[in-house]
Amino acid sequence: MPVNNLKEEFLSDEPATVLYNLPKKVTYCKICLMSNQRPDTCTEHYNKSEQKKKTIKFYDDQICYACKWAKKKESLDWEKREFELKELCDKYRSRNGSYDVVVPGSGGKDSFYTSHILKTKYKMNPITCTFAPHIYTEWGKKNFYNWINSGFSNYLFTADNRIHRIVTRLALDNMLHPFQPWVLGHMNFPIKFANLIKIPFMMYGDNSAEFGTFHNVDDNNLHSNLYTCDNTDDIYIAGYPIKKLKKDLKFTDSELDPYVPITSKAFKEADIKYCTLSYFLKWSNQDHYYYTMENSKNFNISPERTSGTYTKHQGIDDKLDDLHYYTTLIKFGLGRALYDAANDIRCGDITRDEGISLVNKYQEEYPKRFMKELCEYLTINPNEFNTKQNIIKNPIFNETYFKELCNKFRSPHIWKLNNNEKWELRNPIK
Ligand SMILES: [Zn+2]
Repeated sequence: MPVNNLKEEFLSDEPATVLYNLPKKVTYCKICLMSNQRPDTCTEHYNKSEQKKKTIKFYDDQICYACKWAKKKESLDWEKREFELKELCDKYRSRNGSYDVVVPGSGGKDSFYTSHILKTKYKMNPITCTFAPHIYTEWGKKNFYNWINSGFSNYLFTADNRIHRIVTRLALDNMLHPFQPWVLGHMNFPIKFANLIKIPFMMYGDNSAEFGTFHNVDDNNLHSNLYTCDNTDDIYIAGYPIKKLKKDLKFTDSELDPYVPITSKAFKEADIKYCTLSYFLKWSNQDHYYYTMENSKNFNISPERTSGTYTKHQGIDDKLDDLHYYTTLIKFGLGRALYDAANDIRCGDITRDEGISLVNKYQEEYPKRFMKELCEYLTINPNEFNTKQNIIKNPIFNETYFKELCNKFRSPHIWKLNNNEKWELRNPIK
């Protein structure tokens, strides 16, 4: 995918090339500012380096799916949905106090709320589970332990760090998507865990409809095709076919297992009921933040503003997050402040005009604060491979390399080079 020969187009006022199959005309939601360039939910284990994206649904009135869903939420019969939740809990609740529901999460406000309310209000016996971040922030780790200290047992799965660093680096070089292997692990581990301990009931917090990516909001089941696979040979990790990683890099099945989904057959046999709490209870980020502050001893927001945005409380547990959101800015013109502002506008926490000014102030901020540590994490010594083959051409990861890499993934319909040869968004939010 990297493109090196588009300089004329970046200088032109009418570029022809559009990467990633994105809509050529950039528009922003009339209500919440979300961009029509935002990719929709995809089956991550089929994500190839070509990265042809399907984007979120925008309606003719230039309003995004998340805003339509936010409106629809106002008129739903939430009492009826809560009744459905009670029925499900009655069906799966253990009679002897043993674990009866798996709640995946990081210990942030949403997973805290989900596990806590299931335990206290609905009298369930949750076991929580976590796919570890790449590099914990100090405050992310404190919140994780705050969760456990608030009365929850947790299974923490930490992927083999040598393999995890290599596939993270491969995903960055090949797809400018450093979070892709983590996303695979985060999606696939909880189901495999539930299957392993034979608990056929799982409850996530929010579903993706809250943010405008596709989700069937009229049915309490999650789509199993996103989390299962019939044939392991069809899987891609870091944009490479799993067969290539095994053949060229001598990765073993167990080394790649954290990223591999459960088979459809095993999933069917396990008969796992797989839901999100936001289907049953009206979801509010703001309320869950206060709920968590009230019901836990030591939950903390980050002591500093998160890079690329104005917030201190969203997705704060992994140092690699800063890099991830910078790559979405590069590929889709969609930085972290825009994700946060769209959310906050829909919740009524900020106005649209405040959102515009916050997005323009913060979303292009370069991820400086953890960069030294991230460069060390992403530098792969050739000795770390079990083979002479090495598909990482530049083992040393530094900021010069990162900036050049980013430029290869910019699309001319989103970025232009100005007279000083500096990058500018062609269609900033106004
Ligand atoms: Zn919207």
